[in-house]
Amino acid sequence: MQPDFYAAPPTYERYLKKLQSLKKTYPFLQLSSAGQSLCGRQLYAVSLGAPNPCTLFAGGFHAQEWLTVQLLLRFTEDLAEAWQQGKTLAGVRIGADLNQRGLTVLPMVNPDGISIALEGAASAGRYADTAARIQAENPALWQANARGVDLNHNFDAGFTQLRAMEQEQGIDQPSPRQYGGLFAHSEPESRAIVSFLRSCRVETLYTFHSQGEEIFWEYGERTPARSRYLAQMLSKASGYRLVENAGLFSHGGCKDYFIERFQRPGFTIEIGKGTNPLPVEDLDGIYAKLQEMLVLAAVI
Ligand SMILES: [Zn+2]
Repeated sequence: MQPDFYAAPPTYERYLKKLQSLKKTYPFLQLSSAGQSLCGRQLYAVSLGAPNPCTLFAGGFHAQEWLTVQLLLRFTEDLAEAWQQGKTLAGVRIGADLNQRGLTVLPMVNPDGISIALEGAASAGRYADTAARIQAENPALWQANARGVDLNHNFDAGFTQLRAMEQEQGIDQPSPRQYGGLFAHSEPESRAIVSFLRSCRVETLYTFHSQGEEIFWEYGERTPARSRYLAQMLSKASGYRLVENAGLFSHGGCKDYFIERFQRPGFTIEIGKGTNPLPVEDLDGIYAKLQEMLVLAAVI
């Protein structure tokens, strides 16, 4: 008997089974693939309501932050149930609004990295040797994709500046974390996200990482004015504090690219508090704290 999905880490196999069972229970969920990882795993997207325009939630960029995958699926499941039964979630009626602008969730942007973190370098297919060579420490702390590129350093937003900062810190080759690659969008996973963002109108982007109970909300001059107000609302609903980009978190992130390229609000939510990888036991508390914020993010 498989343990409950939320009671054990989300290996890719368990993740696939969970997606299938969600689709079976809630046939109105639209399940598609936004592309493939280096090792050929699918980057699944789950949509509820109108797929275009949409609000986008994306998680599982950093391998050891796999609890974001579970948070997003847990929310998707509750949202689908509320939608099906015409119920409220966190006091908000889930209904017609989502037919105007739906929610798309990309729970696991980095399935190869998560496989390495949970099952070791051997799970990386033809990159198994590469991953084993790069992995100088506990695989559970892996953050990058299968060939040692940190996906959230690989987006085209201040990429050259970020590269220089990485080099100053001695990060100049494939690494378990913080190596941004040879050029922006060099990785199939980041390219898949970029082509998704270009293929439909994403009104607002929320990317999920761990940890710190923080919300990053701006990226330079192209940050739209309403980002600040939305950020304040998100902060009020969750108790998470607003922070500004600094150091190696300054550039190259998915939300940075989104803000700069589209001039629409983009956020990074750092879920939970503690040491990565956060244990599955933290999920209930994190979800309880974030549910209202997630509902507001999905419907506003
Ligand atoms: Zn992260």
